[in-house]
Amino acid sequence: MLSSGLRISGRSLRPGSSRPICPRCYATASTSTDDEWQVIIGLEIHAQIRSNRKLFSRAPLSYGHAPNTHVEPLDTAIPGSLPVLDLEAIRLGIITALALNCRVNHRSTFDRKHYFYHDIPASYQITQHYNPLARDGSLQIFKGDNNAQRDLLVKIQQLQIEQAFVGDDRLVDLNRAGTGLMEIVTDPDMRSAEEAGAFVRKLQSLLRRVGSGDGDMEKGNLRVDANISVHRPGTPFGTRCEIKNLNSVRYLQQAIEFERKRHIAHYLSSDAPLPQETRTLNEITGETMPLRSKENAEDYRYMPDSNLPAMSYLDTLRAGLPELPWETVNRISSTYGVPKSDVETLLGLDEYTAVGIKYLDDVAQGDTKLGKRALNWIVHETLGQLNKANKTWTPETVPVELMRELVSAVESSKVTGTNAKVILKHVLDTPSAGRRGLPDLLAELGIKTADSFDLDAVCREAIEALPLVAADVRGGQTKAVGRLMGEVMRRSGGAADARKAREVILELLK
Ligand code: ADP
Ligand code: MG
Repeated sequence: MLSSGLRISGRSLRPGSSRPICPRCYATASTSTDDEWQVIIGLEIHAQIRSNRKLFSRAPLSYGHAPNTHVEPLDTAIPGSLPVLDLEAIRLGIITALALNCRVNHRSTFDRKHYFYHDIPASYQITQHYNPLARDGSLQIFKGDNNAQRDLLVKIQQLQIEQAFVGDDRLVDLNRAGTGLMEIVTDPDMRSAEEAGAFVRKLQSLLRRVGSGDGDMEKGNLRVDANISVHRPGTPFGTRCEIKNLNSVRYLQQAIEFERKRHIAHYLSSDAPLPQETRTLNEITGETMPLRSKENAEDYRYMPDSNLPAMSYLDTLRAGLPELPWETVNRISSTYGVPKSDVETLLGLDEYTAVGIKYLDDVAQGDTKLGKRALNWIVHETLGQLNKANKTWTPETVPVELMRELVSAVESSKVTGTNAKVILKHVLDTPSAGRRGLPDLLAELGIKTADSFDLDAVCREAIEALPLVAADVRGGQTKAVGRLMGEVMRRSGGAADARKAREVILELLK
């Protein structure tokens, strides 16, 4: 927690000077522009845990069901009902914490946080106030992620497990009451809307890969509270305002931009401190407005609830972590020498299982040169053609063996790139064609391979057929060789390797 001593009250220190100066005077005395101000952003993210039941009741998770159909006695706070902790939710919380490089606390406890809302029957939420599951982690953002302007390591303050209460505004619907959430709190490390967006996107891919959450903002299972303040570099951070419940990266970025401008305008026009507020984004106007003034911890009357036993299975869980998405991207991109963006596309085919990456590794079988070519055929040709046809990819679309045969055949100049595209299109258009091997497909499509005829002989024929062109080439007009190559292509049914044909013709005409 940052102490309130860091807050400024409308006054800031002019960089390079020790004299406090009112921002308004500063504005008029110099050419104050937006560029002199820096926005500071810290995020609190609520991510629904991808378990199959609620955190303390056995009711299954619900989305879009008839109201109050996924409710057990505990969810309605009927006297005598007792919480039964979902250990799977804890396991998912821990592996998420490990993936975020957090220190997982060996003793973790649950506390009651009191609220009076119509859809919290017990009048308290079970959360972790005193001993959260994990602390002190980080998530690395790279320049270019979501247009982030620099590399930065975002520090994670803590990860805690708590109950969610997402109900109707006026009526009582307890379907989602008591669902398990991870609250992930960052340090105020981000300095632009893009960096905040990059953090959320990266966290979403992490949750999906370790299997702890869907991070689906549209369905409300990942929500972001953004804390925003501004300052002039070299001076203390301004008052922060918290914008609650942002449910898309676009809204998050909109809220940050609006707040940034609002705070700067405030400091430029007033000496009064900016009030610390909890605010909400009006998604239609893109403006934020006050929700309530910030409540204090004592308003919640926190009190310990039940204890969690010390968790001794940390090492097993750590060993079982999958390769994380950015590790996969780095490994594949450096192994095969391919652009990260292509690897991201491949990984994006199914972030839960990374099946696209397995497919590439299976096609390459350790042959990195082949893998590099294969990635191109998979991402640009196969996905490109599928996209146009509005079809989705699976590993069976082009079976591993066929992709391997096809890429090897192009690589060894046995089949031309143009013909390989024809074969690929045929496989994508024709169900079951993919199960036939390359030789069958070649026969089926009447495609000849470079080793099925004598290139020398066909080049000679072409030269005989076009004596005048041949004479031009002999006379030094090397450009004319193109026409001879065209003839070789025609005679070979498009099977000749263009580069080799050119060499042979020039050799024959020496
Ligand atoms: P609280 O307990 O009142 O919610 P915390 O200190 O836990 O406050 O901080 C909550 C969030 O606010 C964190 O994500 C933190 O990074 C962020 N934050 C703290 N100070 C600032 C600031 N000056 N500007 C922007 N964000 C801030
Ligand atoms: Mg906090």
